[in-house]
Amino acid sequence: MEYGPDHGQPHGKLSAGASIVGDGNLDHRIAIQGDDEFAEFSCAFDAMTAKLASTHLELEQSRQAAEEGNRAKSQFLANMSHELRTPMNGILGVLQLLLSGHAGQLEEKQRELLLKATKSGDSLLQIISDILDLSKIEAGKLQIHEQLFSLRKCLSDAVDYFSSEAQGKGLALTLSIATDVPGTVKGDQVRLRQVLLNLIGNAVKFTDQGRVDVKAVTGNKTPTGEREITFIINDTGIGIPADKKHLLFRSFSQVDNSDRRRYGGTGLGLAISSQIVEMMGGRIAFDSIEGEGSTFFFTLPLAEGGEGIDGNRHETPPFLEAAPPINETSTIPQILAAEDDALAGELLKQILELFGLEMDLAKTGQEAVEMWEKGHYDLIIMDVQMPRMDGITATRIIRQKEETAGGHIPIIAMTAHAYREDEERCYAAGMDGYLTKPLDLQKGKEVIMGFIKK
Ligand code: ADP
Repeated sequence: MEYGPDHGQPHGKLSAGASIVGDGNLDHRIAIQGDDEFAEFSCAFDAMTAKLASTHLELEQSRQAAEEGNRAKSQFLANMSHELRTPMNGILGVLQLLLSGHAGQLEEKQRELLLKATKSGDSLLQIISDILDLSKIEAGKLQIHEQLFSLRKCLSDAVDYFSSEAQGKGLALTLSIATDVPGTVKGDQVRLRQVLLNLIGNAVKFTDQGRVDVKAVTGNKTPTGEREITFIINDTGIGIPADKKHLLFRSFSQVDNSDRRRYGGTGLGLAISSQIVEMMGGRIAFDSIEGEGSTFFFTLPLAEGGEGIDGNRHETPPFLEAAPPINETSTIPQILAAEDDALAGELLKQILELFGLEMDLAKTGQEAVEMWEKGHYDLIIMDVQMPRMDGITATRIIRQKEETAGGHIPIIAMTAHAYREDEERCYAAGMDGYLTKPLDLQKGKEVIMGFIKK
């Protein structure tokens, strides 16, 4: 770098030194020798630079420590959430089995109590999921996965999810999608669904009479060619008092008065939703009059997909049609389940018995591969997180071996809700279906029996 022709002279050395330090080189010293003012000034300047350098180092060290701490925190939360989820899934599984009548006919009172316990368990699981999501967002670990999907189906699924709850409360729940809203778009379907479920869920929760209307309309094209789509959730519920509006998108904040306590919730849903919308390049806002109702709306830029593409490519796994006929000699279909948690394994066995199936248990991915090689199974249910060898690796090995040995055993992943971003990884490894824990008996039956063809 050029510092001018005078840098051999004291004032030249000073200004050159100041420039070098100004460029961020804090190791540089001017070091003018002598006993004049230049030397004195240079000495003071060098002392200042040294001080700056040490402060800078301290800052850098504490920044690194903070980053490390944050990573450790989010790892801790992720682990803890898994640890909490496993026993919770056990509890919910036992409740489901009891409710299904598996352990004997239930009296009405017993049924009611079990339903209450299930409801509390579900809420607890939801809270655990929310905390995990928020900690991931804060640690910058939440990722947006884009894929083509059917926007209409995503919307109608989210609305359908609340239809019985709305009906139970006597609310009208409607969905209208403007005709120019593209059928297929590219974006993160899982996260969009999460935001929709949260906003529609709140609308239904905080409305005691009247209606909840969900709309989707298109807006402008963005400079990068995406289409702006606005989602509007309008309710005739209790509304939000003007002086509480600023609290809404903050974590753990609820419009807190005794009247609202009865609605339950953690106050995390809107904080998570607004962060997700922001991460997807959108905006979220609301309008509300206390006692009259609220309108929440968010706008997302979504790339339009080609017409006629069914974005949800996992809905009908392509191999389903190509599946080889299943073991015709055995009358009772044999299932191999890989699951490291003993209680979860035992529960699964009982659930599969309900479906008329028999099950063997492998405790690691390695064991699953070995048992599959020796046994004659019709289907594998594969836990994803297992010690020693996880379900993804085990699936890859089985698929590789099948390449030479032939055949294709259906493999269904079974994993905790929080790890739904693993879904893509499961399919990529060669799995054919995906179920979340705690297993919903109805859904589980549909998926599993779908693969057991007579
Ligand atoms: P949660 O619903 O779990 O409490 P949210 O972050 O989703 O958490 O919402 C925060 C608060 O905002 C709610 O507790 C409620 O007081 C208020 N709120 C959200 N949506 C609505 C709505 N549609 N009508 C009235 N109040 C709402």
